Amino acid sequence: MPAPDVTYATAAAEKAWADHQILDHFYGHLPPEPRRPPMRELISTVLSHRTTHADEELAYDRMLAAFGDWPGVLAAPTPELAHAIRTTRWPDTQAPRIQEILRRIQAETGGPFDLDFLADWPTSTGMAWLTDMPGIGLKTASLLLLFNYHKPVLPVDTHVHRVAQRVGFLGPKVSVEKAHSVLLALLPPDAETLFNFHKHNYWHGQQICFFLKPNCARCPLKGFCSYYEEHFGEVTAEALAATPAKWDPTAWGKLPH
Ligand code: SF4
Repeated sequence: MPAPDVTYATAAAEKAWADHQILDHFYGHLPPEPRRPPMRELISTVLSHRTTHADEELAYDRMLAAFGDWPGVLAAPTPELAHAIRTTRWPDTQAPRIQEILRRIQAETGGPFDLDFLADWPTSTGMAWLTDMPGIGLKTASLLLLFNYHKPVLPVDTHVHRVAQRVGFLGPKVSVEKAHSVLLALLPPDAETLFNFHKHNYWHGQQICFFLKPNCARCPLKGFCSYYEEHFGEVTAEALAATPAKWDPTAWGKLPH
């Protein structure tokens, strides 16, 4: 269902909006919801750096099994914490980072390890506080603020970045870091829209717009995707007619959480 007035040459904001509308239809609109509780989201993301999901989960579970709770993790000898999270890529770097993050949360709340004060803070204040912590970048801070507190920010990972560049609403030289503010400026400052834009473009990069050999035949964005035009020429009516209207979980598999 491409918007009729969107072409390969359409301006970035209109392309980004068309991308959102079409993928919203293709994958289905989602209510914004957290992936996991706030403290788990924050600490797990630190553990996940260059680590598989299974090894990240193992590290998280071993850490809490060894030290019981957040006060226990904070009080633990750092080498013992590093040993508990040894399935992660850089346990000796991550252990002191986790303890420093816990120290800062404790200082902010006066004791409890609870991040819900972020709900009441202005978005920019929360973003600045989070990204000042060791090991917390724009993507992690944005994920936490958008998913858990419905703040109007946009996490950008390599999938979202690649799709945006190929479709042509993000410049080819814009870094993933810089893309956070560039893409946010193209979209309405509405948490539900940004949540869906993030999830859908993430799925799109992971399931269809692969780094190697994107599956353009299955892609509903080809009618205005700059990469498609560059590689295959202007889309034909036959190619558009053969494009599926929606993701088919029976044929192609269930989408990840
Ligand atoms: S048409 Fe191809 S390159 Fe463009 S977004 Fe779709 S899968 Fe990616």
